[in-house]
Amino acid sequence: MAYDRDNIFAKILRGALPCETVFENEHVLAFRDIQPRKPVHVLVIPRGAWRNVGDFAAGASEAEIAGFIRAIGEVAQQLGLTGPGYRVIMNIGEHGGQEVDHLHAHILGGAPVGAMVV
Ligand code: AMP
Repeated sequence: MAYDRDNIFAKILRGALPCETVFENEHVLAFRDIQPRKPVHVLVIPRGAWRNVGDFAAGASEAEIAGFIRAIGEVAQQLGLTGPGYRVIMNIGEHGGQEVDHLHAHILGGAPVGAMVV
């Protein structure tokens, strides 16, 4: 399936929709989830047009992949989550419960996150 250039996160990336940015660099944008499930709930997204971790892993450059992973660690550090811990989630496709078809990592923390899967 082709990447939909009108998905919500593509609109956020091009400034057509607002977001509460917590971190950005040449590779990623990180912003607060509009419906936080934990005291800290941030989404990290690559700037490139990738639908999920599968097409990203297969097609993105080494620099984009390294930049994405590094940003997750850096955002968690900046938000004070490294000590107490946190969870990173990537939902993929229908069975994964993915709602927005632009690759994103959820960073959840600020309180115990609970069972891995319910
Ligand atoms: P997923 O189910 O993994 O695709 O998660 C999509 C996430 O995007 C959900 O947690 C939504 O609350 C979040 N979301 C949807 N629209 C926005 C928005 N405009 N700004 C920030 N987060 C959003």
